[in-house]
Amino acid sequence: MKILVLNAGSSSQKSCLYDLTEDKLSEPQPPLWDAHVDWTHQQNVAEIKVKTAHGAVLEEALPADDRPAITAHLLATLWQGKTKVIETLAEIDAVGHRVVHGGREYLASTYVTDEVKAAIARLAVLAPAHNPANLEGIEAVERVLPSTPQVAVFDTAFHAHMPLEAATYPIPYEWLTKDLRRYGFHGISHQYCTHRTAQILQTDPAALKLIICHLGNGCSLAAVREGHSIDTTMGFTPLDGLMMGSRSGAIDPGILIYLLRQEGYTADQLNQMLNQDSGLKGISGVSSDLRQIQAAIATGNERAKLSFAMYIHRLRSYIGAMLASLGGLDALVFTAGVGENSSAVRAAACEAFSFLGLKLDLEKNQQTPVDQDIAMSDSTVRVLVIHTQEDWAIAQECWHLHTKNA
Ligand code: ADP
Repeated sequence: MKILVLNAGSSSQKSCLYDLTEDKLSEPQPPLWDAHVDWTHQQNVAEIKVKTAHGAVLEEALPADDRPAITAHLLATLWQGKTKVIETLAEIDAVGHRVVHGGREYLASTYVTDEVKAAIARLAVLAPAHNPANLEGIEAVERVLPSTPQVAVFDTAFHAHMPLEAATYPIPYEWLTKDLRRYGFHGISHQYCTHRTAQILQTDPAALKLIICHLGNGCSLAAVREGHSIDTTMGFTPLDGLMMGSRSGAIDPGILIYLLRQEGYTADQLNQMLNQDSGLKGISGVSSDLRQIQAAIATGNERAKLSFAMYIHRLRSYIGAMLASLGGLDALVFTAGVGENSSAVRAAACEAFSFLGLKLDLEKNQQTPVDQDIAMSDSTVRVLVIHTQEDWAIAQECWHLHTKNA
């Protein structure tokens, strides 16, 4: 079954075409074709890079003003030119989309209907950087493939069954009716890592207590018990919880009241400050990218040092909180850009939990591990590095939904 996956963000879009067969479902497969569009490097220019499993590469720059036209152009590279991997678009059986916010309504992946599209649009107020881009991707595909089923896979769904005490903010109870609650995000990645961890440890997800550290530009932890998220650090929006690349994570809400009252900040200014000008970037003044922070630390930059120390302090604190929610721990899992690549972050996070008998194998930790257990054999807690594969996870969701309904 050929499944096209669109993972559309505010500044980039990833698309992949997978060919799924039942006998190869359990191990992640490389895509036949994958395409990346980036809008961030040059103003009004979309940089496109398409690669195929056979090694063909196409790089182009297009005017960035018409995103649906770019998506249509991209899809044409599936069946024509040097990146051609199928004869006609009709070979595509289903299209899966990452949708960041599914609110209270969508607790599992679902076929896209007019009602689903209306809900994604309505929920854009809760995920303004993502849901509009996700919807745009759905509508662009609809124009090119009007009769191909599309599936929405929600980042919030994995957390949808968190216990009420973890999902509710201690604010006036009536606010719950306005949907002011914790939703949690990165669910597709947390769910993928849960299953991959169980596979690597050769057990059932139901038998495991896990803390998954998704550390990318955005960062969140999930406490996973019996295969379900029971607590997470992101909340009503992806701004809550850990310190991130350019996002603050949790801060005293009194700071916002103070800035609104005393300094005359507007909501838009606060939004910019907390989402784009905070986190590693805000403290260091260097970058939101951990690699540049580490390079600055090596030159003795004090603010870069402080930003890294804060990042680790908050990571450890929240791991502690997830540990308490779980009441035990079988494995600590690191994933996403920082989690997969920074041995320094992994070592610093693990060090704080050595009192539990958690022992990191420092040598394995240094060797760019992928989908590997990097704890010492006598460690009481396993430590894993998992390469998150959200697109593969979306393709699998489509496969399951599609075969269930076939
Ligand atoms: P996103 O949240 O946008 O999906 P990623 O998961 O791709 O982001 O993570 C991107 C971040 O990963 C970069 O900003 C950078 O800080 C970090 N990163 C990538 N490679 C390395 C590395 N070798 N060492 C440290 N950090 C890295």
